[in-house]
Amino acid sequence: MSVDNSICCSQGSIWQQWLCGLMQRLLPSMSLQDRYDLLQQEVADLRGSLRETESELRITRHAFESQDGILVTDANNIILKVNSAFTRLTGYREDEVLGMTSSLLKSGRQNAAFYRKMWAELREHHYWQGEVWDKRKDGTIYPKLLTIKAITDDHNHVTNYMATFTDVSQQKEANENIYRLAFYDPLTHLPNRRLLMDQLALALANGQKHEDYGAIFFIDLDNFKTLNDTKGHDFGDLLLTEVAARLRSSVRQNDMVARFGGDEFLVVLENISTDEELATKDALCVAEKVCQAISHTYELKGYHYHCTASVGITIFNGADNIHEVLRRADTAMYQAKQTGKNTYCLFDPHLQEMIERKAELEADLRMALSLNQFLLYYQIQVDAEQHAYGAEVLLRWQHPERGLVSPAQFIPLAEETGLIRPIGHYVLKAACQQLKAWEQHEFTRHLILSVNISILQLCHEDFVTQVKAILEETGIDPSRLKLELTESLIMEGTSDNVRKMLELQQLGIHFAMDDFGTGYSSLVHLQSLPLNQLKIDRSFVGNIVNNANDAVIVKAIIAMAAALDLEVIAEGVETKEQMEMLIQYGCRAFQGYLFSRPLSLDEFQRLL
Ligand code: C2E
Ligand code: MG
Ligand code: MG
Repeated sequence: MSVDNSICCSQGSIWQQWLCGLMQRLLPSMSLQDRYDLLQQEVADLRGSLRETESELRITRHAFESQDGILVTDANNIILKVNSAFTRLTGYREDEVLGMTSSLLKSGRQNAAFYRKMWAELREHHYWQGEVWDKRKDGTIYPKLLTIKAITDDHNHVTNYMATFTDVSQQKEANENIYRLAFYDPLTHLPNRRLLMDQLALALANGQKHEDYGAIFFIDLDNFKTLNDTKGHDFGDLLLTEVAARLRSSVRQNDMVARFGGDEFLVVLENISTDEELATKDALCVAEKVCQAISHTYELKGYHYHCTASVGITIFNGADNIHEVLRRADTAMYQAKQTGKNTYCLFDPHLQEMIERKAELEADLRMALSLNQFLLYYQIQVDAEQHAYGAEVLLRWQHPERGLVSPAQFIPLAEETGLIRPIGHYVLKAACQQLKAWEQHEFTRHLILSVNISILQLCHEDFVTQVKAILEETGIDPSRLKLELTESLIMEGTSDNVRKMLELQQLGIHFAMDDFGTGYSSLVHLQSLPLNQLKIDRSFVGNIVNNANDAVIVKAIIAMAAALDLEVIAEGVETKEQMEMLIQYGCRAFQGYLFSRPLSLDEFQRLL
């Protein structure tokens, strides 16, 4: 075999190059055997490298057929190759896109500036990654995460672009769902408290920039709980949804409406005016509109429902603190409720002061029991001969700074906060212990003690058990104990309360109806209650001498008590004339300043 070693093969196919290289190594001086060996070796090497190349190719083919869509173009963006994932994700077959440019996939959602920026980055870094909205063959638009790499030759010239992408619509949807759940109320689709706080903070910051006044409405539906309790939560939900829609449509598009929780909504009007007075005037107009929108009749599953709301309004600007603004709106809402609901109120700083005082009182009241600040006072009750036959226990709160606080001040608060239950329990137990102590003395053993009971105590399921436990613990004669309930409260009494009263009455405990005449008891109702005594309210007694109407009422009450076989006692007797008149009408029991004011235990015992 003659070999021309001078053949130079720097160009041509890999095969030609390999052949050239081989020829150059086959030196004429080599023996036939050496040449043969060399050839054998070269062929073996070639087989090895062929196997390697085949395996690399297989890997590349696999990689190309991945889950991600892949698209290869030339330097002019003409599509050269796509994989099957590309077809699955875009709907285009390979033969439909070969020779086209990749802009065929554009949805038009990104503007030219977006693509200009992308190409600039590609030119500079040979790499770009980002989210784009593309269009499938069927016209649907979807978001994808796209990575583009430029492929370069040895001279760093771009020869190709390779784009890989994944469809991120599901991921995006999941993210949006998470966002919705975190920031929107699922029932009304309104922003929730969290989002509102964020947006309000922004509104305040904007206000600071623009020196503009905005307004915030704190809206609470009136009697929503009753609807929920009587018609069920489905109805409650329907109402909330409808209210949300009405609120949304009674304010401007860019005003915020949010559900704050339960039956509470918030509306934020931004940038109303740079003038505080004008802003206030405008806000009140919108509030009027909102109240009207809410108060139109609702049709909930064929059931006509009338709903009203109490709206608290406050004006704010950028100088305000977010929590302070909300507190003001809440206070104003509270004021609207106090004014009889179905109305709107502008925040009033005096009211704020009152509420703060009340909050302080409440905090102190929570501590009062454990700090032993409660005292029992006793007000004597006498018969027609002015002999003491009993006393009413009246609670006093000995506050270290406030002094002696009257129950008129703290009992309503105790009822509002539920503290009345432990406090009432304390009073009842202390009264029974006093009755027990009085059993030891001749002067006091006959006394009957009247204890005021709040309806909240009576309503509690444990009330009877608690009273029984106290009776057992103190070992008193139950017939020395009288429980006073106010008329208006007994009127709300359910059959359950009547059952409890009967159970206690069977033990020997007596019941009195306090402040009688101020409520609206019907005769039928009176008869159905297990009562022993009516206590004529002191407002009638106080006027009995100079007001003929009150005299008639007192006379009628006494006659009615007699007819129903009930005892009767007049409270608030302050003068001899009053007492004489009461005696004349047939009353035989009395309580009032004429005999004594409520006294501490020591003073009371001395009086006896
Ligand atoms: P009440 O049960 O009607 O008590 C009678 C109130 O009239 C007492 O006021 C008493 O001091 C006052 N009073 C008595 N005689 C006269 C009089 O001649 N003229 C005038 N102007 N007033 C007289 P107090 O002690 O301030 O109690 C107010 C209310 O607080 C009580 O009205 C009662 O409803 C409630 N209360 C007091 N102690 C308790 C308690 O331990 N538990 C509960 N649940 N309520 C209590
Ligand atoms: Mg009383
Ligand atoms: Mg009374």
